[in-house]
Amino acid sequence: MENKRVYLCLAHMSGNEMKYIQEAFDTNWVVPLGPNVDAFEADLEAMVGQGRHVVALASGTAAIHLALVGLGVGPGDEVVCQSMTFSASANPIVYQGATPVFVDSERDTWNMDPDLLEEAIRDRIARTGRKPKAIIPVHLYGMPARIDDIMAVARRYGIPVVEDSAEGFGSRYRDQEVGTFGDYGIMSFNGNKMITTSGGGALVCSTEEQKRQAMFYATQARESVPYYLHKHIGYNYRMSNICAGIGRGQMTALQQHLAWHRHMCQCYVELFDGIDAVTVHVNPDSRFDSNYWLNTILIDPTKTSVTPEQLRLALDAAGIESRPLWKPMHTQPVFSGAPAYVNGVSEHLFAHGLCLPSGPCVTDDDAQRIASIIKQQLAR
Ligand SMILES: *Cc1c(COP(=O)(O)O)cnc(C)c1O
Repeated sequence: MENKRVYLCLAHMSGNEMKYIQEAFDTNWVVPLGPNVDAFEADLEAMVGQGRHVVALASGTAAIHLALVGLGVGPGDEVVCQSMTFSASANPIVYQGATPVFVDSERDTWNMDPDLLEEAIRDRIARTGRKPKAIIPVHLYGMPARIDDIMAVARRYGIPVVEDSAEGFGSRYRDQEVGTFGDYGIMSFNGNKMITTSGGGALVCSTEEQKRQAMFYATQARESVPYYLHKHIGYNYRMSNICAGIGRGQMTALQQHLAWHRHMCQCYVELFDGIDAVTVHVNPDSRFDSNYWLNTILIDPTKTSVTPEQLRLALDAAGIESRPLWKPMHTQPVFSGAPAYVNGVSEHLFAHGLCLPSGPCVTDDDAQRIASIIKQQLAR
């Protein structure tokens, strides 16, 4: 049997993207603003609801950066960030001259542990005399964090929350879109995310004033006078009208994408049913509704001596891409000086987890093949 290579999560076009791009060319809106940007923002606002305001940007990383700018994070400040994440969650803290304080995860969602968060806040206040300036929880792999509990801790100490929902587009907690619980939420439309604009992101704002301010900083902080007057340092972070056209097309296929990612999860759950050493990462209870952006498994080291790396190599040899889970930020050389509050969960996840192919480019047959290779390895 001849098999095409199976990738973790490929971009998948709806077929409507070219129409919006063509419109942009026909009307000469080949610039970082225009009708596609406005319409894409309107699509995103309609999707997330909650009266939130959305600013389309060049990347998810830019969105986190602008949220921190909006919250006034600066040199000498500390910002609490989930340790189990992609470095883009934490890098903008350093762009602002602030220090990240990493907090470990709890076992069910793999996201920020609310109790450990509170412990970290108390300890930072005791040590520095100041509370952290912001908190960045992440909805990793699309699994909603325990956002109610995290928000409760944040409110108790009066600290704003920036939800990194880059991987959680379309995920819901208690029937509410992730990214709409905190003071800000962020989205990513990078090539491998739930939907793509080839590269892009968005900032979800809770007030109109936050949106106005984000647009100001995203367009070089130019004051509204006829000449170029600057009182603040700005950025060139707006999304182009071409990219937004791709985004509008992608939005027409969002429900199919979400359905397929969730279907893949169901496939993996069934295929690994009865395999003791493998646990598929699923919603802990009915409040959680993950988009299953990447489906992930944990290998129980007490039940097998086969490592995730052995599985990855076996899958790779069969033309299937898989990947270790994110390496925790508190173990990254670049953040070695940062304070960290750890409980062993994220390090356990990194040592024993594996991301499996997901999304519209992966078929039921692919999932079957992936599972049988893993089962073969475990049986050796
Ligand atoms: C992808 C990602 C980002 C950054 O988004 P970009 O659009 O690639 O800049 C931030 N946080 C997490 C958790 C991500 O997965």
